[in-house]
Amino acid sequence: MKNEAKGTIIGVNGNLIAVRFEGSVHQNEVGFALLDDQRLKAEVIRIRDDVAEMQVFENTRGLGPGDRVEFTGDLLTVDLGPGLLGQIYDGLQNPLVKLAETNGVFLPKGVYAEALDRTRKWDFLPKAKPGAAVGAGATLGQVQEGMFEHRIMAPFDLRGDWTLDWLGESGAYTVNDPIAKLRDPFGAERELTMHFRWPAKLPIRCYRKRLLPEHPMITGTRTIDTFFPVGRGGTYCIPGPFGAGKTILQQVTSRHAEVDVVIVAACGERAGEVVETMREFPKLSDPRTGRSLMERTIIICNTSSMPVAAREASIYTAITLAEYYRQMGLHALLLADSTSRWAQALREMSGRLEEIPAEEAFPAYLESRIGAFYERAGLVRLHDGTTGSVTIGGTVSPAGGNFEEPVTQSTLKVVGAFHGLSRNRAEARRYPAIDPLESWSKYRGALSPESVAKAREVLLHGEETRQMMTVVGEEGISMDDYVGYLKAELIDAVYLQQNSFDQVDAFCPSERQQQSFELILDILDANLDFPDKAEARTFFNTLRQKFIDWNYTPPESERFAELERGIRDHLSSAANQESLT
Ligand code: ADP
Ligand code: MG
Repeated sequence: MKNEAKGTIIGVNGNLIAVRFEGSVHQNEVGFALLDDQRLKAEVIRIRDDVAEMQVFENTRGLGPGDRVEFTGDLLTVDLGPGLLGQIYDGLQNPLVKLAETNGVFLPKGVYAEALDRTRKWDFLPKAKPGAAVGAGATLGQVQEGMFEHRIMAPFDLRGDWTLDWLGESGAYTVNDPIAKLRDPFGAERELTMHFRWPAKLPIRCYRKRLLPEHPMITGTRTIDTFFPVGRGGTYCIPGPFGAGKTILQQVTSRHAEVDVVIVAACGERAGEVVETMREFPKLSDPRTGRSLMERTIIICNTSSMPVAAREASIYTAITLAEYYRQMGLHALLLADSTSRWAQALREMSGRLEEIPAEEAFPAYLESRIGAFYERAGLVRLHDGTTGSVTIGGTVSPAGGNFEEPVTQSTLKVVGAFHGLSRNRAEARRYPAIDPLESWSKYRGALSPESVAKAREVLLHGEETRQMMTVVGEEGISMDDYVGYLKAELIDAVYLQQNSFDQVDAFCPSERQQQSFELILDILDANLDFPDKAEARTFFNTLRQKFIDWNYTPPESERFAELERGIRDHLSSAANQESLT
């Protein structure tokens, strides 16, 4: 679509420009503000009479009344095709590494580059028959993209059934070469290439139906998988104060989660953080394949120095990419860090639009925007019968770590699991700092809910005893309560806490969690006898050390079984003799 409408800027307020136009202009249409020889991308966010208010995705310095604006008739779109994996994009899907090569680290504004390499050739394998009926999302062929068969699909905007008139033979094609021709019942023709565009703010719905998440997405983090599991195709959030470990937890998850494709949307808290992500990520190796983790990852980067509107674009670009890979029958995970930055961008724009503010000056539509974003997650059955999923995990960084604020509260209403990071745990360096008593999940994990509930009960009781002891001291509580407290501390030290910098401990596979948790249950069930509290403490210190040694030992090593036996022997040494018979 091409829009001939022309506009003139009549006001500039930060990243918001007011544009008087002639012709017709639509909500969410993209336009360009012309500044000398630069074209600054912008999106229509409100229209009143003949004035369009637009958020500019660039610094607006230099723009002023009288400057011209061109409209495109197109929504903000994402380019979809082979070659997305391994890329580092900004919110408008500009390939950052490529732009940096030609322009240096600081990008001049108004410089945009193609998201997909136009010259690279892909080996196309046709997978459909000429004459076949083709609907939106139908598979026409495939190319090998890294470790995945990347489905070449009919564009998602195709309406109704078309007939496949011609399909390219197997061979090497660029993303711009024609690979198919379609015809509709009225004789209209459409030529297809291996890529097409899709509006970032519209969910991709080329599937037969949505299914409820049934399997957990194993993350390898024990606290999550055992106590607060995430369904594959589900949603979860990680609120936590600054420095509580949100970003590190997401990095660990991006490496180890049992999914195919990972999309990282980094809306940085600090400018340096995102640069770090960009530098560190490509060096990481995939624990499952030993190859670079980047081969199955896409990073969308926004630093706090980029205009706020670009943060919103990042979130939508990222989810659209995740949905695209879901259409191939793959499992995608979108990690957004931090969604608070996005919410702040909404607040800032809303303020400039002089909308009636709701709580803490956030717009009244904050909740529905957050809801609509998380709703794009899901497990789906595709038209060919296969399934694919998008799981979304978003961090929230409430000021002062206060979870009562609107972004955290709006998010908690829509997600399926809550991993709340506690400042106390982080300060005590008990990582991951997921609060075992406050957090919750609506998903089913791999372990039996009864035994998990039992362990949580011990944790809860242990915490009560700990608080009691701060008042009455160790002497003031019974031996039973004291042992209960030591058991709770043990679960914390050897099960909840996990060393993300240890090669073995960083990732605890499902079977291992099961094995480890069974041992925990045996310890909880053991009827232990101690002459005094000092002895009890010594016993648990040794038990903890043995357990941690075991955690750090690879299961295939000889020491593994030996260490487990050592834990069990130590346990029997204090078991009440009567209870053993
Ligand atoms: P946030 O994103 O919540 O502000 P970060 O993820 O950047 O916090 O973590 C802040 C610091 O806390 C890290 O630089 C690191 O020193 C420490 N940290 C966080 N998580 C862990 C962990 N799992 N293991 C060890 N240290 C951690
Ligand atoms: Mg962070």
